[in-house]
Amino acid sequence: MIPLPEHDGNHQVLFLRNVKFTYESGVDALKGVTLEVDSGEYIAVVGGNGSGKTTLAKHMNGLLRPSVGQVVVSGGDSSTMTPAQMARVVGYAFQNPDHQLFCGTVQEEVSFGPGNMGLPADEVKRRADGAIEVMGLSEVRGKPPLSLPLGLRRRVSIASVIAMDPKVFVFDEPTTGLDANEADELMAIIRKLNGEGKAVVLITHEMKLVAEHANRVVVMAEGRIVLDSDTRGAFSDIELLRRSKLLPPPVTQLAHKLSQMGVSRDILTPQELVFELTRGDDD
Ligand code: ADP
Repeated sequence: MIPLPEHDGNHQVLFLRNVKFTYESGVDALKGVTLEVDSGEYIAVVGGNGSGKTTLAKHMNGLLRPSVGQVVVSGGDSSTMTPAQMARVVGYAFQNPDHQLFCGTVQEEVSFGPGNMGLPADEVKRRADGAIEVMGLSEVRGKPPLSLPLGLRRRVSIASVIAMDPKVFVFDEPTTGLDANEADELMAIIRKLNGEGKAVVLITHEMKLVAEHANRVVVMAEGRIVLDSDTRGAFSDIELLRRSKLLPPPVTQLAHKLSQMGVSRDILTPQELVFELTRGDDD
């Protein structure tokens, strides 16, 4: 029996130690991943297609179990926990919301998780009503989830996770298929959850979202973590990002080009670039 890693139970909510995973087809999707997630962190997991992001995410809440290594959830070895027990701590919003939706109405869908946790009926209702309100679903609460447009289906799937009140939210490409407004609204909700102390793990290929929201970036390539850094540090290593088939957002690339003129390379958003370029204008 491998001893549990040293950790501070107050802050560390998730710990993956040397996780390896091989699909039945023989593909080694994870080749030894070690990752700690603390409460309140906002981590973006990025990497090219097939680098192992989704496989990693599915280990965080027990949808997949490691072939080798250990997943520690809230200080407990998850090999002894059921997926339902893990889901109380780590909520996972699928890339395709339809993989998550199966109930007759939105109200039932959002109530399912807390009901399954064995909570009393009034607490289930309180949580479901709260999640429905946060996600702006009050008007469709009596409708079948699968009859709704994609933006609302995604909201229902996320409301179902919110109703479980986990400590960690894992979002797998949550803005896929959403228009710009829907994506902005969703990112604002995720930011609010993070502001309430929830840890957020955001899997995305949209580097603009990473730059604007995450405070830590984990870069994956070929089943391994090749960079784990604060966001500014991650975007300063453009060569490593290129090798991982990633590019920083255009505004950061522009700042790197302008650095020969003395502009800081540490730019993540258009607002920061404007500030940098107009610095000293009032002197
Ligand atoms: P990403 O999310 O970064 O695109 P995935 O975790 O989906 O990467 O995939 C990692 C590797 O595992 C890829 O080589 C992919 O083809 C393979 N893979 C993913 N899902 C399965 C599966 N269900 N069966 C077999 N191989 C899979």
